[in-house]
Amino acid sequence: MSPGARDFAWPEGITAVIFDMDGVVTETASVHAAAWKRLFDEYLERRAKLADETFVPFDPDEDYRRYIDGKARRDGVRDFLASRGITLAEGDSSDAPDAETVSGLGNRKNDYFLNHVSRYGATAYRSTVALVEQLRSARVRTAIISASLNMSQVLEAAGVADLFEVRVDGHAAEDLGLPGKPDPAVFLEAARRLGVEASQAAVVEDALAGVEAGRRGGFALVIGVDRAGHPDALRAAGADLVVSDLGELELSGLRSSP
Ligand SMILES: [Mg+2]
Repeated sequence: MSPGARDFAWPEGITAVIFDMDGVVTETASVHAAAWKRLFDEYLERRAKLADETFVPFDPDEDYRRYIDGKARRDGVRDFLASRGITLAEGDSSDAPDAETVSGLGNRKNDYFLNHVSRYGATAYRSTVALVEQLRSARVRTAIISASLNMSQVLEAAGVADLFEVRVDGHAAEDLGLPGKPDPAVFLEAARRLGVEASQAAVVEDALAGVEAGRRGGFALVIGVDRAGHPDALRAAGADLVVSDLGELELSGLRSSP
């Protein structure tokens, strides 16, 4: 076993694993956080200047974790602004990126994010890819979910477009009218597409809202991936097991099929 690795006996009844994308499969959480910070700092600074008030910047750790991470884009905009006592009109998805609406700000953030991905590409965590391959060779079913509307672009850019059997992204959630995390609807839809019950599936998440969704959905096992150094918060949200990287898990009891 490699240093720091933990032997983990794979529970027998678990036949499927549903992975969150950002921060679990792809190393995009930092790109998202930077795009959010650029958006909100520009917006808050301009607002503070106009009102002759002190500018309090967006905290890419605390504010991101608390109000943004794991949520649909517009929910993130609305929830963070509410924490600063700001309410904007919702607008709609066709709003220009400079419109002062929840949708407009969300669209601007998305432009910042996509610019980064197209310029620098995206990275998949090698340890996660190795785990997915190990699960698949043991005939455990796998799915990937995200609130993101950019799942295809990100998976493509990270070179893992064919890794998962089933995908449920932000477009699917919109089409089906599924509420965002911490509601478990997106995970339950992934389980449905895999043909398994929640009680037969594990969820792997790095966001508080996502871990809570896994718990509320009645999943057999919720694994929290702690990229931010807050293992207790993930445990409190309902994670059965917390690792700082999936490479720490040495699975036993899983047999590869030829
Ligand atoms: Mg995530």
